[in-house]
Amino acid sequence: MERKLLRRFYEVLILLRVLNQVQGHRISGHVHEDGNLELLERIDIRRRVMVHLCTMCDYKKGGATVTSIAMEELPAGPRYWIASHGRHNKIKLFLTETLQSLENRALSSAPERGSEAFEKELFERFTSFQGLRIKQYWKLLLQCLESELKRVTLTSNGSGRYEEYTTWLQSFIQCSQDESSLSRLPQLAYSARHSPFLQVGFDPITMQPTAVESQFRKDIRHYIGRLSALRRAAHLLTFASASQPNLFIGFTTQQRKSDAFPSRPQLSSLPTLDGIAGRMLSETRSNSAEFQSALQLLDNRMSLMTRVKEYYEGNDWQPRVHAELVLLEAIFDRKYIFPDGDRYIACSKPACFCCYHYICNHPGSFARPPSHNKIYPNWQPPQVDSKKANENIQQRDVMNALIREVRKAVIEQVMNPNLRFPWHPDSSSGITRSLGRVDILTQLDEPEAHETGYGHSREPSAGEQSSQSIECSSGEESEDGGVPLT
Ligand SMILES: [Zn+2]
Repeated sequence: MERKLLRRFYEVLILLRVLNQVQGHRISGHVHEDGNLELLERIDIRRRVMVHLCTMCDYKKGGATVTSIAMEELPAGPRYWIASHGRHNKIKLFLTETLQSLENRALSSAPERGSEAFEKELFERFTSFQGLRIKQYWKLLLQCLESELKRVTLTSNGSGRYEEYTTWLQSFIQCSQDESSLSRLPQLAYSARHSPFLQVGFDPITMQPTAVESQFRKDIRHYIGRLSALRRAAHLLTFASASQPNLFIGFTTQQRKSDAFPSRPQLSSLPTLDGIAGRMLSETRSNSAEFQSALQLLDNRMSLMTRVKEYYEGNDWQPRVHAELVLLEAIFDRKYIFPDGDRYIACSKPACFCCYHYICNHPGSFARPPSHNKIYPNWQPPQVDSKKANENIQQRDVMNALIREVRKAVIEQVMNPNLRFPWHPDSSSGITRSLGRVDILTQLDEPEAHETGYGHSREPSAGEQSSQSIECSSGEESEDGGVPLT
């Protein structure tokens, strides 16, 4: 890819990261709505199978093992394409063994029998593989439980459900204190996931609706949701192995590795504030004088360019291709048949800001992914075959569209410096408000990422910002800290 294009991209991406990492609320992914009920359920279950497999493969917090899966329809059975940020062999082996076990069950004469024992076996497999992540969640959960207990003890007068709530917190703390019982934690979390004390939008003491929830409680809900994902995955996959055996019978796997730069992108020189503003405004119709003076004001107040320079020169800036884009470019332009024409690529994490806009602007018409809408400067465009001129032109167009999105966000941020969105973890908890519908799928698995509706919402929700959020949420799933610098 042209160096000039990369320079124009990174200068605004890093500036946007310095201005604000969170670019809005979560965005839900595309949901199929056309077709008969049978088709919609088949697509929905297949997508869930893929997402749960990705989530179980991603065994470490922090981004190093993020995994993506796409499914190709072949006459002999499905081919699972897999890409991960690292630990490629370990993850591929785990996926293959898990699929093997699901295939064996799908091939058995009465797969619906013995589902409890199979689900238990699968759950144990996941608990063992996810040991590291469980330990990471356990430490964070314990910290939040203790802080929440302290908070209610200091702020409550003992009325309402105070006794009950503190007993519930204490019982969880006791269960979480013994490191040797870590393997029991996912089951405990799963059993607790419907507790009234985790109900969204309710005060746990008065049980009355509230707009302002304790951040510790939000984080407890999040970690309990993440921990119960193991059991939910075992449940859904057990069901799918009996109800949709064609997802597993005759499967093969195909791996693609992330083709990261051997070192950071080589940029000829560091950008200047005037240079960035000039390049941005030459392609937009913004009021340039107003924008430039607002940008200068922010630089004076927040040392923007000093922080941009720190990114360029620091050791943490090591861009890599995110897993879903490794697969996207690997399968694009091949004679690849998506089952039911569903051009879906699953990932263990919602897409970041750049992946989301890259996928939405790609000519491959891939399904719009859910997004956590956050900026990661350690993002790199996927490599395309340099000998194929049409692929290079297509990618240049996608990158230009992405640059326009980043610039738009920079302008919005500079012209509205008080615009702030509540920090949220990259992954959703999987515990949501009741959607008011009961069907087979909601009984199987509580859907994720339907909390905030569709499309970009750039208005922060009232009362969600908390000064405590950084204290307890820091680092969750983030590649570079997760805490806004501003
Ligand atoms: Zn990404």
